[in-house]
This record gives sequence, structure tokens and C-alpha cells, in this order.
Amino acid sequence: MQVARSGEELRNGLKKTSGRRVLVPTMGALHAGHLALVGKAREIAGPEGTVVVSIFVNPIQFDRAGDLAAYPQPIEEDLAACEAAGVDVVFTPPAAAMYFPDRSVTVTENLLSRGLCGATRPGHFDGVCTVVLKLFLLSGCDAAVFGEKDVQQLAVIRRMVRDLDVPVEIVGHPTVREADGLAMSSRNVRLTPEQRADAPKIQRALRAAKDSGRKDAAGILEIAREGLEQTALDRIDYLSLVDAETLQPVETVVRPAVLAVAAFYGEVRLIDHVTIDPSDRAD
Ligand code: AMP
Repeated sequence: MQVARSGEELRNGLKKTSGRRVLVPTMGALHAGHLALVGKAREIAGPEGTVVVSIFVNPIQFDRAGDLAAYPQPIEEDLAACEAAGVDVVFTPPAAAMYFPDRSVTVTENLLSRGLCGATRPGHFDGVCTVVLKLFLLSGCDAAVFGEKDVQQLAVIRRMVRDLDVPVEIVGHPTVREADGLAMSSRNVRLTPEQRADAPKIQRALRAAKDSGRKDAAGILEIAREGLEQTALDRIDYLSLVDAETLQPVETVVRPAVLAVAAFYGEVRLIDHVTIDPSDRAD
């Protein structure tokens, strides 16, 4: 496995092979969710192809300095996990290798990124789009794998690729969960044992709303909110029912919709969602 710390090292480390080059962008602190994306990347790349994992805690997508400072960065463990997972190249640049001090170009998506996380995290998706496009260009990847856990991120990146004719296939991977239902996240390690034990209730609240069979936003949101009130969460950032494709709020579920939540235990912000399809039935 090659480890590249600059764009130049990355280019030098990438050999021309007959297979596809598939990128998995991450911020590190790798868990089984990330590694499932790596497995998917290998499936797409094939044995002859190249799987590239980027590990970069992208400073320009953080809206809270404390969150950036507290973000776990166990780089040695991450490199070992990549090696064990059969990754070909890890790209882990320092921030100075990614951004000029006087950088002045940013990629902005203006519709899907406005609500949900974008509403309370100003500049977040500009940071995401900018770094993802840079990672695509630096790696020259044919395809990239993203988790459905970050459902808005995936939709925004699909839109960026569509609108800018970026020649990269975007592949989504279902959310990987702990045995108790909590969506895996690098931020979970920052939860206290009590918060960690409480956190699966977030997914249960969303599922209760989905499983009610209700199709009206008011009813769905009320059931989810009741469930969230049973948790030890300190603050709910948002709880929204939006169209799965446009991410705009919906009144009634007539096409696939996403019931999404972002909430805080102390300073730790977690997100989760369920998809509600009109053909779903309560069971
Ligand atoms: P992050 O390191 O949190 O920026 O995540 C890197 C990639 O891994 C993103 O595409 C995430 O959506 C994805 N990811 C993170 N957690 C999970 C999970 N529990 N299941 C599936 N994908 C995930």
C-alpha cells in the first residue's frame, strides 16, 4: 500500500492499470462503515483496479472550531485498517498541501445544500463540494463511493457532478449500523457511556414514525418528535421530512421521502435518517 501526502506523491503513486480507479473520500477515524465503502470500491474497481482512500479532515467544511479540534485523528490505526482492507493508495495530505493561503475559488451548490445540515452549518457544503472536486481531480478517479448516512452530502455531490459534468460515477452505500441500531460515526467515540447507551433511541424514533404508516408530514414528524423526547439528547438541530431527491420539505409522502434528524449530546452532533417510500406499509 502506498501512502501519499501531497498531490504530486499521489500522482506518482498511481499506476496506469487496466481496471478502474475508485476513490473513497473520508476524514479518517475509520470504522466498519468506512470499510464497507472500501469493500464496495474494490468490487467496482475489480482485482486489477485501484482503490484510493483519502483521509483528510477538511478544515473548510467545519463550522465550529471546537468540532474540528476534537475530531479524532488516529492515523496509524487508520493506515493499518486500510492495509488490512486491501487499499492500494492512501492519500493523507496536510491542510497546507490542499489549500493555498489565498485560495479564492469555492464550489457552491445552491439548492439541495440550503436546508437540513446546510441551514445550521453555514459554508459546510461549499467546503464539502470544494474538497470532493479537488480529490476527484487529484486522484483522477473513475468512480467514488459515498455513504448514504450523509444523505444530504450524497445528494449534493450527485448534483455537483451532474451540473458540472464531472466524469466520475457516484456510488451510494447503505448506512452501516452498530448491533443496537446506532449509525456508525467517527463522532460516536466522543459520547459518554450514558449517551452512547441512549443514542440508539434516535433511530428507533425515526423508525416508529416510518412504521406508523402515516403519510402526512405533521403526523410523521409528531411521532418522531415524541420518540426523540424520550432520549437524553440535549438539543435537536432539525427534524425534517424532505423529498428524497430534491431535499425540499414535503407535506405528504407521494414519492420517496427522507425523515432526517440532527441532534446534539453535549457538543457531539449526530445525524441519522430513514427513507419513507409511499409503497411502504406499516408492519
Ligand atoms: P466521514 O469520514 O464521516 O467524512 O465519512 C466518509 C464517508 O464514509 C462518507 O461518504 C460517509 O457517508 C461514509 N460513512 C460514514 N459513516 C458511515 C456509516 N455508518 N455507514 C455508511 N457510510 C458511512
